[in-house]
Amino acid sequence: MPNREDFNDDEVKIAYSIARGVARGDLTRSAGNRLIIEKLGAKPYTAAQFTEAYPAMLDGILYKKTLSDLAVNIYVEAITAEHGLAKRVLALQAVLRNIEFWEKNESERLGRRAFRKSQRALYQMLLAATPLNVVYPDDVVGSKTYSEGAVTQVLVNRYERDPDARAAAIAHYGCRCCACGFDFEAKYGELGRGFIHVHHIVDLATIGAEYQVDPIKDLRPVCPNCHAMLHTDKPAMDISVLRDLIAATIRRPDAVR
Ligand SMILES: [Zn+2]
Ligand SMILES: [Zn+2]
Repeated sequence: MPNREDFNDDEVKIAYSIARGVARGDLTRSAGNRLIIEKLGAKPYTAAQFTEAYPAMLDGILYKKTLSDLAVNIYVEAITAEHGLAKRVLALQAVLRNIEFWEKNESERLGRRAFRKSQRALYQMLLAATPLNVVYPDDVVGSKTYSEGAVTQVLVNRYERDPDARAAAIAHYGCRCCACGFDFEAKYGELGRGFIHVHHIVDLATIGAEYQVDPIKDLRPVCPNCHAMLHTDKPAMDISVLRDLIAATIRRPDAVR
């Protein structure tokens, strides 16, 4: 069989299941690569793409050998079906890391730019098809630290992400946490100025198509710790409930301050 790179769905799925076998330790990576070369007529480099990407996607880390758009699509959907939404989020993070790595490091050879653009569009599409707010929605204002974290971006609920609504909520409530009073600027100085999550207090399940976010009524600035605590419940806990919990904990004589 001649070396090929234009694989169809079924062939990519074969490569996927071999890559999964490698990740599980059923066979070594080089044996997996050989099997892909044998079954698909793939080039060694292409076979290595398939076996490198799978474990990286499960961990949300960078893989350097880029998959085709078709393979990215199949891998992300298969990982979702097999391991659930949290792993889908990690897989998408790995895809984004690959795209960003090559956008930074690739010479402007003809065609590659267009390829990255198409893969980025695919990434956006897969991201848009990811039900949000499942782990917990996150948002950060004025943050450089988090701007590259795909997971953070993925988990943002769109009402919490809307920059105008967020700005209006912060203008009204300030940058202190509405639950515990934490103030990033007071703690971290210049570095913490303007840093806060924004929590959307309306249960997404109750929102209809015509819903318009009301920043004052529906959004509250909260620190990331309290934000995570609020989302330990589904729908999210009331901020007043969390406030009472914090107060009760602080009143305990053995409480650690
Ligand atoms: Zn807080
Ligand atoms: Zn929230």
